Amino acid sequence: MSHFAYVDGVLHAEGVSAVSLAEQFGTPLFVYSRAALTEAYQAYAHACAGHRASVHVAVKANSNLGVLNVFARLGAGFDIVSGGELARVLAAGGQAKDVVFSGVGKSAAEMREALEAGVKCFNVESIPELDRLNAVAAEVGKKARISLRVNPDVDPKTHPYISTGLKANKFGIAFDEARAAYRTAAAFAHLEVVGIDCHIGSQITEIAPYLDALEKLLDLVEQIESDGIAIHHIDVGGGLGITYSKETPPDTGLFVRTLLERIEARGQGHREVYFEPGRSVTGNAGILLTRVEFLKPGAEKNFAIVDAAMNDLARPAMYQAYHAIDPVLERHDMPTRLYDVVGPVCESGDWLGRDRSLAVLPGDLLAIRSAGAYAFAMSSNYNTRPRAAEVMVDDQNVFVVRARETVRELFAGESILPA
Ligand SMILES: *Cc1c(COP(=O)(O)O)cnc(C)c1O
Repeated sequence: MSHFAYVDGVLHAEGVSAVSLAEQFGTPLFVYSRAALTEAYQAYAHACAGHRASVHVAVKANSNLGVLNVFARLGAGFDIVSGGELARVLAAGGQAKDVVFSGVGKSAAEMREALEAGVKCFNVESIPELDRLNAVAAEVGKKARISLRVNPDVDPKTHPYISTGLKANKFGIAFDEARAAYRTAAAFAHLEVVGIDCHIGSQITEIAPYLDALEKLLDLVEQIESDGIAIHHIDVGGGLGITYSKETPPDTGLFVRTLLERIEARGQGHREVYFEPGRSVTGNAGILLTRVEFLKPGAEKNFAIVDAAMNDLARPAMYQAYHAIDPVLERHDMPTRLYDVVGPVCESGDWLGRDRSLAVLPGDLLAIRSAGAYAFAMSSNYNTRPRAAEVMVDDQNVFVVRARETVRELFAGESILPA
């Protein structure tokens, strides 16, 4: 069920009208639904129940403290890719012992922070990273629990920028070198091998690439264990896609059960399984509300110039991504026209939607759908635009989970040269 639906011709977020949200908090405005976040997370958690399996929400998809707090209250673990994300998880009520630390370029300082906090596992992506982590762990006087991110070389059939499991990608350790890498890892005094992981890409809409990757991983695990190195958990990464337009990704429960059954069928059901969903637990739990500033008829195209821009939502400019755009107020009495929905930023790449059939007037509100993942998290201050506010709706209640930035805040750390 969608938690963003029309009531008497007006789009609502749960029990709150989008018109009143825009009036109260201004635009552009990110609006999250607590019920939608909860439902998407529970689809994973419920399918994991009764198995040795757990969910680590990928913080980079949406790192707002209010959002992370919703997941922390549900008992989620987290997948982080920086020391900053660790700080966010802890500030949001998450616990370091439920955190896995991914990423290709962890600094020594980040490793130290994570070791001192006591994260559950470092997902290590290269041999030099093993060296560095071992040295930092020795300094801190701890053993770092590690998993190696293996690149299974499968094609997830997604956008090249969000495909991460191919040989040509910068991520992970090549499949053919992984067994030897595990022997290397096991020899370090301050490292403890505990698992194996992969993450093959994002916005994946089929189960088959996951099963291909999993089969390769399970073969490898058997080889690693025959070398006398115990693998306690298998982390299958994230990447499950969502419906932006007409995509039909597998149902979350089916996805989880299929992977768990395959692992059990291979006689490896005694191992713990980690899932690292990002987009699929936050993407469709948020919308971006924006107001039409001007309608500008053109020789070839009509433009709807809105107050949100590529700095608020970079995905269209970055990946030519499609986001559905709907008027907040249904105007059945007006004919629709085709518009390119564009922002005020001085770049031709600043568009949010192309050739959209809309019945709108200047001053109307539009809702950009599927804006809960890689939306605010990727936003910037380009053109000195303060970042949008974020609110969380919970039934009839609304909480500001991030105040709108002010222009003053944007240059607070800057200074002019001395006289
Ligand atoms: C980004 C990322 C995820 C989450 O990916 P989604 O496509 O948002 O589910 C999970 N694990 C790792 C290592 C990642 O880098």
